[in-house]
Amino acid sequence: MKQKSKYQQELEKEPFYNIKDEEFGEEVEFEIDKNAFKGGPFTCHGKKSALVEKKASYGDLEFTYNIWQCRKCKKEYLDFDQAKKYEKFLMMKKLLQEDNITMERSMNYDGKTYFFRFPKELTKNLSKSSLVDIKLLSTNGRMFLVEIKG
Ligand SMILES: [Zn+2]
Repeated sequence: MKQKSKYQQELEKEPFYNIKDEEFGEEVEFEIDKNAFKGGPFTCHGKKSALVEKKASYGDLEFTYNIWQCRKCKKEYLDFDQAKKYEKFLMMKKLLQEDNITMERSMNYDGKTYFFRFPKELTKNLSKSSLVDIKLLSTNGRMFLVEIKG
């Protein structure tokens, strides 16, 4: 088997690597180019792909993003930054969907710090060396977006 490049391995770790989205019942599929880290334009059919602006919407949420598209076969490619951006749209979309996996936890207090426990089933991929990235979403300090890195 051919050894995967460092970039390819890094890329496959990204949550957006297997981006799949459904729009009007049809699955939208992008190719994350193996040179995604370098950015486009990518070469397809012997020619450089063109930068194309696309629009996606979900309810009131509208989103403009760019892709690289082959002029001949119309195949769409995303580079790293484009994929990251599209992933954000998918996350927002997920937030608006009714069928979100939701859980309620009791707040704990140890006399100094507030904390809550993650459900056990969701912590299989976590490690003590993980970093937690917390984004404050509301001004009252009660809504957060939590991402566990590494
Ligand atoms: Zn092509």
